[in-house]
Amino acid sequence: MQIAIDGPASAGKSTIAKILANDLDYVYVDTGAMYRAVTLAALKAEIDPNDEQAVDDLLPQVEIDFKPGTPAQLVFLNGQEVTEAIRSDEVARNVSAVASYAAVRTAMTDLQRKIADNNGVVMDGRDIGTTVLPQAEVKIFLIASVKERAERRYKENQAKGIDTTTTLAELTEAIEHRDYLDSHREISPLKKADDAVELDTTGLSIDEVVERAKSIIAE
Ligand code: C5P
Repeated sequence: MQIAIDGPASAGKSTIAKILANDLDYVYVDTGAMYRAVTLAALKAEIDPNDEQAVDDLLPQVEIDFKPGTPAQLVFLNGQEVTEAIRSDEVARNVSAVASYAAVRTAMTDLQRKIADNNGVVMDGRDIGTTVLPQAEVKIFLIASVKERAERRYKENQAKGIDTTTTLAELTEAIEHRDYLDSHREISPLKKADDAVELDTTGLSIDEVVERAKSIIAE
């Protein structure tokens, strides 16, 4: 079975997707991590993320791998572990631009479909239910208020010790801006698939969201 989980930034997609994949013994694919890895590759190569041609030219030299790890799946860029590095503010600020490029989306979509092929899979992203796996048996569109999403992100940053000087107000603005860019780009914008079930996680605990997701899967 294929389970697509889409939604705006920091709505809890990866937390829920990971738990579901683990419980079902399915492969978990974090597609946002792929776009983040391409963005990090551009920044490392000192390429301007707004320079579409330069990012396109870099693509053949970008190899992304996932390996199981605890607590999080490990992400590798050209053999180097970048699990934490792709979560930086700098990557977050630039990823929507990189993710808007046709060549980048084609390469990532191909890779995502390849991983999903013949596998029970839980895939999270922005366009999984609409574009990557339109035939997915289960489609969930996770949302939450901007306030709650920024607060969750803030707490996570403090706990992990990443970007600890970024204020809650700055995070709120960054999330809203990224959602705007992601939902207004030309190719595969962030959008609820017509046949997706919307799940609002505002005020719900992780356990409660998992329970609701499982009842959607069982329907
Ligand atoms: O899910 P996450 O917040 O890590 O995604 C980072 C960025 O990657 C998103 O803001 C979006 O620009 C891009 N993305 C995308 N399509 C996906 C997953 C992520 O364009 N399927």
